[in-house]
Amino acid sequence: MGRELSHFYGGRRVPGASGRFADVFDPNSGDVQAQVPLASTAEVSTVVEDAARAQPGWAATNLQRRARVLGRFVNLVRENIHELSALLSLEHGKTLGDSRGDIERGLDVVEFAMGAPHLLKGEFSDSVGTGLDVYSMRQPLGVVAGITPFNFPAMIPLWKAGPAIAAGNAFILKPSERDPSVPLRLAELWIEAGLPGGIFNVINGDKEAVDALLDDPRVKAIGFVGSTPIAKSIYTRASANGKRAQCFGGAKNHMIIMPDADLDQVADALMGAGYGSAGERCMAISVAVPVGESTANALVAKLKERLAHLRVGVSTDPAADYGPLITRDALERVRDYISIGVTEGADLVVDGRSFALEGHENGYFIGPSLFDHVTTDMRIYQEEIFGPVLSIVRAGDYDHALTLPSEHRYGNGVTIYTRDGDAARDFAARVETGMVGVNVPVPVPVGYHTFGGWKASGFGDLNQHGPDAFRFYTKTKTVTSRWPSGIKEGASFVMPAGDHA
Ligand code: NAD
Repeated sequence: MGRELSHFYGGRRVPGASGRFADVFDPNSGDVQAQVPLASTAEVSTVVEDAARAQPGWAATNLQRRARVLGRFVNLVRENIHELSALLSLEHGKTLGDSRGDIERGLDVVEFAMGAPHLLKGEFSDSVGTGLDVYSMRQPLGVVAGITPFNFPAMIPLWKAGPAIAAGNAFILKPSERDPSVPLRLAELWIEAGLPGGIFNVINGDKEAVDALLDDPRVKAIGFVGSTPIAKSIYTRASANGKRAQCFGGAKNHMIIMPDADLDQVADALMGAGYGSAGERCMAISVAVPVGESTANALVAKLKERLAHLRVGVSTDPAADYGPLITRDALERVRDYISIGVTEGADLVVDGRSFALEGHENGYFIGPSLFDHVTTDMRIYQEEIFGPVLSIVRAGDYDHALTLPSEHRYGNGVTIYTRDGDAARDFAARVETGMVGVNVPVPVPVGYHTFGGWKASGFGDLNQHGPDAFRFYTKTKTVTSRWPSGIKEGASFVMPAGDHA
């Protein structure tokens, strides 16, 4: 059965009251290690009420004081990073180093959000008419919610909470039910850092809790990250309910390899980008597109050689390149996709299906797989596999390579490896995806630029982190004011225009 986890609101851990629970597994062993409560609609309502009560006081706290709380939180997370990484690895299955990266990448955005006193400065236009000034202010929305996926249980909650809280909102997190322990620990650290109770809350749950957040009129914005079908349905329901929504979905990220690229550099890059974290990253490269037959042949040979030395191990093994998948279902799904690829006629160069880790036969481990001669009509090309499986699609020339990511239904990230500046520049300008790398394996932007995919990878107008996060979590109010107040113009019945004011 394992430990019974809780929710976190009102500044403390609160046990579940619905009587419904989900199992949290140890992916290394397949054992159940904890039970997470699944909140009822009534419990969600209590959390929202609590957050709504706390929010005005937090919004009235001056910006520098708010920023200082964020600073103390960042320091506390760093002081506890070993404990947090171990907890994350144990539930997710990613290696300790990768877990640390998950947390650090989240902190990047909290550090960025410490710039709120500057970032929330409004605009001011002096003397647009006689005695007339116009200024704008950015005000918090109130209570906002984040619904996050299993694959980055620290980073994505922090990408949302940092800017939302800095901007003066109360934030309710509905983390993945697969790995909820790190979010709960982060909630405690927020309180230790001096954040008032009710401003960072964790409500665990499934569709019932999510629907309750989507339908509660006191929740003003929904930030979602997860798979595309859920992203789309949450975007539709949140928008229909008049909420602001940004919903990020799945991906199929391509790497274009030009004939002039350094193929050793490319093969090394593909090891981490394709197989790191067992391919369970929304920015993982799952399609490699070598341009020209000789580039493709040489690349496949180099990948094969490297894959033979890749080490799959338990998440605590410091020598492991990646650990187990998140659940048995995920393991079965990835195995099925590999079988589908074989049936579809792709050339399975390396087959990871039969891999078993000695002493951990019930863990969710799978070896790395590599497909060559994949074509665009195959399901293994069109659909997100979310596992350690790389597909090679051979392109005849640059223009062919450019159309592949551009015409794919997903549009998260893409990267090109080349020594040709013309090709790189043309590619960055023309490719139809939200994030582009040039000789960079995983083009996740730094925290002060924005992150977001196009097409089926993202629904909504604004991106995550960077300046867009502050736009998303605030509403702009524009004030037109006249001083001295006694200037007389007489009655006017036409629309006031700036230059006639
Ligand atoms: P998921 O869609 O299964 O779950 C995401 C969240 O939605 C979880 O909190 C889950 O509890 C909730 N949820 C699941 N089913 C629901 C339903 N029917 N109604 C309401 N809520 C529901 O995704 P996952 O498996 O946790 O994460 C993996 C997916 O996330 C992959 O597709 C990956 O590409 C994507 N992802 C995208 C990004 C990005 O920035 N675009 C980042 C990370 C992960």
